[in-house]
Amino acid sequence: MKFVILIGPPGAGKGTQAKMLEQSLGLPQVSTGDLFRYNLKNETPLGKLARTFMDKGELVPDEVTVAMVKDRLAQADAADGAILDGFPRTQAQADALDQLLSQLGGRITVVPNIIVDGEELIQRLLKRAQIEGRADDNEDAIRTRMRVYQEQTKPLLDYYQQHGLVVDVNGQQSIEDVQQDLQRVIGQA
Ligand code: AMP
Repeated sequence: MKFVILIGPPGAGKGTQAKMLEQSLGLPQVSTGDLFRYNLKNETPLGKLARTFMDKGELVPDEVTVAMVKDRLAQADAADGAILDGFPRTQAQADALDQLLSQLGGRITVVPNIIVDGEELIQRLLKRAQIEGRADDNEDAIRTRMRVYQEQTKPLLDYYQQHGLVVDVNGQQSIEDVQQDLQRVIGQA
């Protein structure tokens, strides 16, 4: 089982790139944001709980998120691994993932870090707000998501760097060029 973890701030293009990678890698994209949004749309208890955090741009509690990911990775299409998009986002989630992968006999092959500068990110998120109308793409929530990324998720780069897994990818190129770089980086892992 092989796992690729896409790391990058909100608006870096993780979702777009992960979807494109599904075919070339033959692994499913597992996006915690998409899973929460699916639950929200279907008004499940998990969705109702998640909404209170998501609307403000805060993280859904680790236990809830980890339990959801465990369920998802137990599905048949993830038997060979997955492209993780938006997970882990905290050290506790990274630790839980390590534990889960040791149980499943899986390993993280590479952690591409998609780099885009702050000003560009805000522009992208505000544009996405107009196109997709995501509730958490308003200015307050965006600011919170950026702060949460800096405080909780960015430190994971140090953690994965210690394991020699992080490779920087320039996210400020065309979608196709970013995809090409990602495929090269993952192929070399
Ligand atoms: P995303 O689509 O990845 O930007 O996620 C949208 C929102 O879902 C985030 O702002 C969080 O509220 C929630 N979320 C997604 N992934 C996680 C995670 N790994 N841990 C906690 N909350 C998450």
